[in-house]
Amino acid sequence: MRLVRCVPVLLTGCHPTAVVSPDSGSDADSDVDADTDGDTDADSDADVDTLSLDADFDSGSIGAYSINGDTLRMAVDQVTMVNTGAVYAYWTHFELSGVGDREITVEVHGVHDNPFFGELHQDVQMVYSCDGETWERLTDHVYGPEDGGLYSVTQTFGCDPVYVASFFPFSYGSMQAWIDGVGESEWAELSMLGSSEQGRDVPMLTITNTAVPEEAKRSVFILGRQHAAETAGSYQLTGLVDFLISGQVDAQPLLDDLVWRIVPMVNPDGVFLGHSRSTSLYRDPNADWANGESVEVTLVRSTLESLAAGPGVDMVLDWHNQMNQVRWYDFVYSPSGNSFFPVLSSWTDFDEETASGASSCTSADCSSRGWTMTHVLFDPVFVLEPCPHSNHWTVDGLREQGELTAQAIGAWFTDQP
Ligand SMILES: [Zn+2]
Repeated sequence: MRLVRCVPVLLTGCHPTAVVSPDSGSDADSDVDADTDGDTDADSDADVDTLSLDADFDSGSIGAYSINGDTLRMAVDQVTMVNTGAVYAYWTHFELSGVGDREITVEVHGVHDNPFFGELHQDVQMVYSCDGETWERLTDHVYGPEDGGLYSVTQTFGCDPVYVASFFPFSYGSMQAWIDGVGESEWAELSMLGSSEQGRDVPMLTITNTAVPEEAKRSVFILGRQHAAETAGSYQLTGLVDFLISGQVDAQPLLDDLVWRIVPMVNPDGVFLGHSRSTSLYRDPNADWANGESVEVTLVRSTLESLAAGPGVDMVLDWHNQMNQVRWYDFVYSPSGNSFFPVLSSWTDFDEETASGASSCTSADCSSRGWTMTHVLFDPVFVLEPCPHSNHWTVDGLREQGELTAQAIGAWFTDQP
């Protein structure tokens, strides 16, 4: 889907992940000519900064692009998973410098089938940030059918540089800092399951009131960010945990009655590299539960096996967000006939459920839910899929959904014999 040619104007080079994706080629880099004097228009006006772009940072990602005056033209790269053959558009997250106080136009070309920019839902909105922490939406985009779908937004940002992304980012570094902070809580214990393919930590948080014997408690296991760009799930998961350790009265029974074991970021390499779903090896980790091909998944699977053989596991949640432009609502994959979904739905915005079956994969137990339902427990095993494209979401709203999910879990266990 390469519809934008990088032209020799101020190209600073694309993120390495964009270069190695099968469909991306290396147009951007190959077209770069550091000595090309294509930026004369900008240089001719000494009062106007020239735009420059960087995505070579934790969770950064951009496909081929060009800059001409005040306009950034970009395409969204795609990648084919080596283990499933599925094709997904890359996550987009970059820093744009030299914006000054003038109007800047960002054009994304070839977005027809892209879940974050496609025309199927006109209210998709990119986000921007002045500090990389607090995000606002770009609310005035227009969509046109030309060039296989053209998403365009013109904005005066009011800060320089500015960060732009397809949805609220939640980077590897941000997650590690958050995990370390939670680990300081009197209710939490931080442990390491092991290292990712590229040597990054895969930590687990155990959250409970240790004054209550574990034999008297039920056990909840939660994993997140198998798919690297599914940040809505991270905001909800961290909202759940922050509520548990908040000291609020409503949280105390959830610490007294339950043990929460949480692996917040199963795929740290993919997150760091700015991938959409895959690991550093371009594998979909959620198709590697039965084959041992993704070391990160094997770490989590071994932990689940040990818990199932030891203290037990009474609920498993796998927190994602959808990467599909067709579903425009919040839903869960759940076992047929389960009693948890009505409770979850009454507390949260998860208002649709899809029967899991044994698995969404071709082999019997290749996904987290397939493997877990086969080897650990059948019910309740849930995959949570908030819709990141919905522009009603805010970071605070996503985090509140996590808190409400915690309360729903507590309410459901209270009614279990
Ligand atoms: Zn996912």
